[in-house]
Amino acid sequence: MSIHGLCQVCESMAAEQQCQQCGALVCHTHYDEETGLCINCASAVGSR
Ligand SMILES: [Zn+2]
Ligand SMILES: [Zn+2]
Repeated sequence: MSIHGLCQVCESMAAEQQCQQCGALVCHTHYDEETGLCINCASAVGSR
C-alpha cells in the first residue's frame, strides 16, 4: 500500500513513510528508519 500526499516536513517530496508517533506523512529523507519516527519526533527521542 502506498501513501499519497506530500511530506509534511518539506512539503515538496512525496511522502513514503508515516511517523509512528505523530502520524505525520514524511518522505524518505525526513523519516528515521531506526525509530520509525519523523525527524521532528526522532530528534526529540535522540536527544537523550
Ligand atoms: Zn521531506
Ligand atoms: Zn513525528
